[in-house]
Amino acid sequence: MGCESCAAICPHGAIQMQEDACGFLYPTLIEDRCIHCGLCVRTCPVINQKRISLPTETVVGYARDESIVQKSSSGGFFSLIAERFIENGGIVIGVAWSEDFRKTLHICVDNLLDLEKLRVSKYYQSHKGDIYQQMLAYLAQKRPVLFTGCPCEVAAACGMVPEKDRESFFSIDIVCQGPSSAKALREYIEWIEKKKKSSVCSINMRYAIGPWIPQNIKISFANGKQYVKRLYDMELGDAVRLMKRPSCPNCRFGGDGRKSDLTLGDYHGANPSASYYHESGVSIAVTHSDKGRQLMASVHHANAYLEAADYQELNKWNPCLEKGWPSYEGSDTFSRVFPQKGLFAASRAASSWKRRVLRKLPLKLRQLIRR
Ligand SMILES: Cc1cc2nc3c(=O)[nH]c(=O)nc-3n(C[C@H](O)[C@H](O)[C@H](O)COP(=O)(O)OP(=O)(O)OC[C@H]3O[C@@H](n4cnc5c(N)ncnc54)[C@H](O)[C@@H]3O)c2cc1C
Repeated sequence: MGCESCAAICPHGAIQMQEDACGFLYPTLIEDRCIHCGLCVRTCPVINQKRISLPTETVVGYARDESIVQKSSSGGFFSLIAERFIENGGIVIGVAWSEDFRKTLHICVDNLLDLEKLRVSKYYQSHKGDIYQQMLAYLAQKRPVLFTGCPCEVAAACGMVPEKDRESFFSIDIVCQGPSSAKALREYIEWIEKKKKSSVCSINMRYAIGPWIPQNIKISFANGKQYVKRLYDMELGDAVRLMKRPSCPNCRFGGDGRKSDLTLGDYHGANPSASYYHESGVSIAVTHSDKGRQLMASVHHANAYLEAADYQELNKWNPCLEKGWPSYEGSDTFSRVFPQKGLFAASRAASSWKRRVLRKLPLKLRQLIRR
């Protein structure tokens, strides 16, 4: 599933990650470097999986600081927890854009200014590089580390932490539909930079204008121009919706397969008249361990509105709490066409003419037609 743990753990560099035709990274063995020590097999979170996670406490709510909710995917729980963690001397690991916005990377952050880089979902699978080695080095220095990412990535990180350093290791995974491929992102950014005759200088895939759903994307350019569109009305959004790794529908790291201390997600079924509701986003948090409870306890009621919730009720609206990606109509077509003909052709082939016409219309008119 692209966690890269086998490549990271191999002391001989015998495993390298290579892109497949859709742009997802897979391990490749360089046989003459392999000494058959079996470390990669012992580290693999899929091979060594134990299903143990149980939800203990479930909370919904949002950050009371309006600017945090505006800058986050939903209610901003991640920011509240990560800020406290850094203030207490810890390192937060999470996903940021690369400088040229052609891929996403797992990076380490030790200050509040750089935390900005980790905020907001970037729906493309990250490159891990040497992130696991950096994590292990901080743990060896007794610095607390909070590792965040997709459930499979968190499982990989958990599997690498030696027993002696476990106490300082904390983890948060997200409710995850599966990230898409950086190859689609690359093609889109190259296309839009040519079209707008300027380079991209920021992307927000959960840009808040009005209600938090449907999602908007905002792309800002070096020449000061901006491009705002509903994410799922554009080709890049089609890649996010339709193209995942083949392992994502059968994800083994949701439900009782989670290895994290805490899971964060969006509360899609939130009731707009409930007291936990915030029109810019409501988060959910599910704790799985004492450390998860510790992380949530660091979020004071003065900083967040928090309300206990029923796990089964949340699961109705967030099926990816338990299961993998549901696979939508058009996914097979998209993944078949993309490797040969690219993002735009794949998007055209995978969308019905009705969808293509509808998404050109204003939202209100579209809702009227649907009704
Ligand atoms: C690929 C993907 C699929 C998701 N699918 C769902 C879903 O189906 N249902 C649902 O309720 N929520 C989903 N989420 C999670 C959701 O969008 C929010 O990230 C989560 O609710 C936390 O929001 P927040 O407001 O607390 O903080 P935010 O600031 O929005 O969250 C930031 C966190 O997301 C992590 N992150 C950002 N991009 C990536 C990435 N590419 N890979 C791994 N981690 C990343 C950061 O490291 C950080 O920990 C998904 C997120 C991603 C990245």
